[in-house]
Amino acid sequence: QDVGILAVTLPRHGGDGSGRIIGYEFLVGGGLGFSHTKENTYPRLGTPLYFVQRDEIWPLLEAVIKIQRDYGERNDRKQARLKYTLDRLGETRFRELVREYAGRDFPPASGIAPVAQPDYLGWHAQQQPGKWYVGIWVENGRIRDMEDKGFRFKTGLKTVIERFRPSIRITPHHNIILAGIAERDRDAVQACLDQFGLPTDKGISTLRRMEMACPALPLCPLAQSESERVMPEFMRGLEEAGHGDAEVVFRMTGCPNGCARSSTSEIGLIGKGPGRYVLLVGGEYNGTRLNVPLDEKVRHEEVVPLISGLLTLWKEHRQDGERFGDWSWRMGVEKLREMLGRTGK
Ligand code: SF4
Repeated sequence: QDVGILAVTLPRHGGDGSGRIIGYEFLVGGGLGFSHTKENTYPRLGTPLYFVQRDEIWPLLEAVIKIQRDYGERNDRKQARLKYTLDRLGETRFRELVREYAGRDFPPASGIAPVAQPDYLGWHAQQQPGKWYVGIWVENGRIRDMEDKGFRFKTGLKTVIERFRPSIRITPHHNIILAGIAERDRDAVQACLDQFGLPTDKGISTLRRMEMACPALPLCPLAQSESERVMPEFMRGLEEAGHGDAEVVFRMTGCPNGCARSSTSEIGLIGKGPGRYVLLVGGEYNGTRLNVPLDEKVRHEEVVPLISGLLTLWKEHRQDGERFGDWSWRMGVEKLREMLGRTGK
């Protein structure tokens, strides 16, 4: 995001055990969109600038918006994002301007980064005694009945919501949480989910739990390639090749706008024309490092063998407990291309 506000909480297990919010990390200049043909566009992670309390957020936000209003690019739309303004001004000047516009300074960033990205699938006890929530897996965010695959997702979701009236959340992984379910209703809710084939945390490969793809064709006019419609085919191919157990964040988008955060995934595919993708590796599991292009011209039919080859190399060469993103980052794309026999262009 141009501006990101991350709530920092005390751990539920440890600290005072309350899980209460102790402040907000204020990040500026994030944005994953770029253009394949414009070298002065690029994905960028937000820079943590301040750590503030709730009543400081508004004056800080107002100052940042005014800086973008007065210093943001107005002629070239591709450069009209806060990330480019921040890079052009530099962090020191940006902080000076914040001080000038807000009439005060703010405490520096805490440096606290996300430590996990749970998918919330399956059943979990809530803080409130006797209440449960269940995370339901929605492949790439598409809610529809798929009789041929044994899912009646739309009908099932409608039925369970009408019958049990849970509160509803949508997760950053495109999944759905039904919350506030009473202990006495748990079995009945699960029976209803089973009746319509709604998957929770069972019966889905680890690889598929972590996948995400944007809508792309035929829904998005900006799409350069397929995404959501072909991701299940890639998943199936990788599962058949024996990689269903891989705990790897794999995301795909039909263009570089990054709606499914393909630039921060451990494996990313970004559309670059019909049936052609850029393959990226080396992102950090928690999304705190951008990935880098490994191969700029991957044809549709090459995707599964290429990624399968990479996952096999990772399993053979990783250090103990080393995640795919960290391994591929450590190896570097030159070395990986050599191992795969690809030129990358
Ligand atoms: S990332 Fe996907 S949904 Fe977003 S603009 Fe590109 S094709 Fe469309």
